Amino acid sequence: MKKTPKLSASRALVEDLVAGSRILAMHEVLDAYGHISARCDKRPDRFIMSRSRAPALVTAADLMELDADSEPLPGDKRKGFIERYIHGEIYRTRPHVMAVVHSHSPSVIPFGATRTKLRPIYHMGSFLWSGVPVFEIRKKRENNDLLVRDRPLGQALAESLGGCNCVLMRGHGMTVVGDGVPEAVFRAIYTEMNARLQLQATLLEGPIEFLSEEEGKRSTVSNRGTLERPWELWKTKALGRK
Ligand SMILES: [Zn+2]
Repeated sequence: MKKTPKLSASRALVEDLVAGSRILAMHEVLDAYGHISARCDKRPDRFIMSRSRAPALVTAADLMELDADSEPLPGDKRKGFIERYIHGEIYRTRPHVMAVVHSHSPSVIPFGATRTKLRPIYHMGSFLWSGVPVFEIRKKRENNDLLVRDRPLGQALAESLGGCNCVLMRGHGMTVVGDGVPEAVFRAIYTEMNARLQLQATLLEGPIEFLSEEEGKRSTVSNRGTLERPWELWKTKALGRK
């Protein structure tokens, strides 16, 4: 078997990324599609993500190190995800972002395709206080297949995200960022749940009372403080260590 380049990331980060992939598959935020990445903790100009493979099946051996332009290191001939440019261009424009999840999470799709804004309806979705912009790929490329398949499209997506925590992609899915793998996983899971709850609330007598900006900010900080608890639970389940 051909040797692949050794990752410069720590073992802890590698384990978190494998767990993160499986946790997101377990929660059906990812299916055969979608991916998670982390900025490399030893080489911040690079990032780590799986080769093109269903997230539930990802192991440490599937992880690849990608450079700032989202290209594999010399000698690594494995097939990367087409949409790795989403991750690379966000890391380039947002130096404090340490992990990114891109999914085709079903409940968010209506919010990317209509005028209704996705807003924080409960405390687990409080990080959405930042606003949830919608990336319209047609503005960048009229003739497209909806995939962020090169750097210019990745740049345009990163521009749409701006300083927010989540960006929806019209007719496609969403991308969330976090200060580490656990936070990005948490946000991907609760963006999906928030969307589902917001849709349910529209069936009831309105108007819907969303979190205020101040509640959103405060609750985002509180959730950061208790992140270890769900992370330990999810990771234990995903890695089968019960
Ligand atoms: Zn996609």
